[in-house]
Amino acid sequence: MPAMSRCRVCQHALLEFFDFERQPLSSAFVAPDGTDDEFFFRLAVGMCESCALVQLIESVPPELAHHEGYPYHSAGSSVMTKHFEETARRFIETELTGPDPFVVEIGANDGVLLHTCGEAGIRHLAVEPSGAGTVRVHRAFFDAASAAAILATDGPADVVYSANTICSVPDLRPVFEGLDVLLASDGVFVFEDPYLGEILERTAFDQIYDEHVFFFTVRAVQALAERFGFVLADVERLPVHGGQIRYTVARAGRRTPTPAVAELLAEERELGLTDMATLEAFGRKIQGIRTELVALLHRLRAEGHTIAAYGATAKSSTIANYCGIGPDLVPYVCDTTPAKHGRLTPGSHIPVRPAAVFADPYPDYALLFAWNHAEEIMAKERAFREAGGRWILYVPHVHVV
Ligand SMILES: [Zn+2]
Repeated sequence: MPAMSRCRVCQHALLEFFDFERQPLSSAFVAPDGTDDEFFFRLAVGMCESCALVQLIESVPPELAHHEGYPYHSAGSSVMTKHFEETARRFIETELTGPDPFVVEIGANDGVLLHTCGEAGIRHLAVEPSGAGTVRVHRAFFDAASAAAILATDGPADVVYSANTICSVPDLRPVFEGLDVLLASDGVFVFEDPYLGEILERTAFDQIYDEHVFFFTVRAVQALAERFGFVLADVERLPVHGGQIRYTVARAGRRTPTPAVAELLAEERELGLTDMATLEAFGRKIQGIRTELVALLHRLRAEGHTIAAYGATAKSSTIANYCGIGPDLVPYVCDTTPAKHGRLTPGSHIPVRPAAVFADPYPDYALLFAWNHAEEIMAKERAFREAGGRWILYVPHVHVV
């Protein structure tokens, strides 16, 4: 064991509850001849003994993590495009109602939200170091300095929004310092990230990988907001990405928390969401899934069935490596991202093939790595099941459909 790890926010000790052992960087797809210099680290999770924030025990060295900017999540799926459009319309009706409102997004994903705001005539800006995208971008990480620069040119922001990004930022202090600079007095910071309650409920342990540093709860976000002079004003559960929460944070004293905050806090207490016993029970379920999934794959192979995986997602890195699923069990994985074709999945070294390979011919079984888009994928690949194919899912438990 390394020296005791400390909470990234309050510096108290982290209580470790699960160790996924040796894992690669989840986005580091390797060339077939490049497997000798892969980087590995110990993927383990713990909870802060003081503020109850669940987080990774070890950090990936900053020079290896997201060097190109905030993690990018393509809206790509129509479900996510619709989600961002609806979120934009909600802001336009509720928060962006004053004269000449201004909305900022940290890590702009596909720019769908800002684009929708822009079409309604609302001033908008993305803050994103890589600067890619179709909307206006301030190329920087979000902190006090970039916030001051934006304030000088655009004035205060009525809404600062971020989806699937805040959980990936190891040092949250600069983010809150930036909010303190940029937010209008009645402005709000709205962010959406995977919810620990949902991860536990579904045993969705593959949400745990190098790019997700924090696994938020309402309790921990409330403590986080108060620590930096803000208040958690509202929470809302979202169905996207397998279960998230949208947190609305305001300056202290500016908003009265909605009943939803107290309701979810009470629910978390009742579930024992931040009790070590609950987290350790989650760990035992993960071990059970590994045992069952590996046994199923070995049995199907022994019976002569063909198996492929579907969706070479970052999050599939955890399950593939933790379960030791390599090309001997799953000979290839189909994915729509051209940059991954011809490469191998990180650590587990399963060859990535184009999506068209999936139907040519169909395998007997498809291990659905992109399970959080299961409904959409199964609808799109209806012909696979009609041809007799079966999906293998491992969330919330191992099952074949
Ligand atoms: Zn803490």
